[in-house]
Amino acid sequence: MAAGFKSGHFPALLGSVYNFYKRPGKADLSLEPDFKKLDFMSEAGKYFADAFRHLGGNRGVPAIELRFYPYAGLRHTIRSRSGRIYVRLSDICKDAPPDVIRALAWILVSRLLGKKVPTIHERVYRDYSLTPGVMRASDLARRGRGRKHFSTAQGEVYDLDKMFAKLNRRFFNSEIAKPAITWSQRRTRSILGHHDHIYDSITISKTLDSEDVPEWFAEYILYHEMLHIKHPARLINGRRYYHTSAFRQDERRFPYYQQAQKWLEQLARQRRVPRARAA
Ligand SMILES: [Zn+2]
Repeated sequence: MAAGFKSGHFPALLGSVYNFYKRPGKADLSLEPDFKKLDFMSEAGKYFADAFRHLGGNRGVPAIELRFYPYAGLRHTIRSRSGRIYVRLSDICKDAPPDVIRALAWILVSRLLGKKVPTIHERVYRDYSLTPGVMRASDLARRGRGRKHFSTAQGEVYDLDKMFAKLNRRFFNSEIAKPAITWSQRRTRSILGHHDHIYDSITISKTLDSEDVPEWFAEYILYHEMLHIKHPARLINGRRYYHTSAFRQDERRFPYYQQAQKWLEQLARQRRVPRARAA
């Protein structure tokens, strides 16, 4: 249950969480005023540092940058880049009690380090996320901030979130900030991928979520869209250039680049259009 915990640490932690549970109203009220007086982020930062100290072995505590982010729903992200840790917490959590922020710190750090999330923290966070006020706020955020169409990255065959993480690691040193990634709702055939810099989103044609499509081809299309994030459009004499020479150069670094071009031509022939493309 509490596997992975340092035994010396566990009783103290259990004690404080236990109190929080026994008298949620009271614990909440008694903790909140003190907590509010302190800078929320520096306090939250201490929980993250603490989680790294306990879960990271002797790797030490990295520099941590924390900020709130207006995600569409209750979601949080953590990533590591050049030795620094970047955490984005859903701004719904601005008023969360300290125990919840601590639980969140442990959950995110566990996830980053590939460790099992301590059950106790999982429970604290889950209970918080299921309180009516939080569920309502999450619902409103999802509706109000939702992307043009709310869809999903998990397809029937390919998971775009996983694919993104893999490509990001392999070709971008994990430096591409994660956009919203979804499969298209309609089975668009001539445009296979699209990056929208206003919405910070990538949409991949649902036609590629198929056993008939090799993984490297779906990856190539996503890779192309990721390059649009790495190489923003350049404005030259009032014209916007999306596929600059630096972009094209990077694009050819993809190991299946030649095969992908052939596949694109083949798709175009099947449909008698000049060329299928990733926009
Ligand atoms: Zn493009």
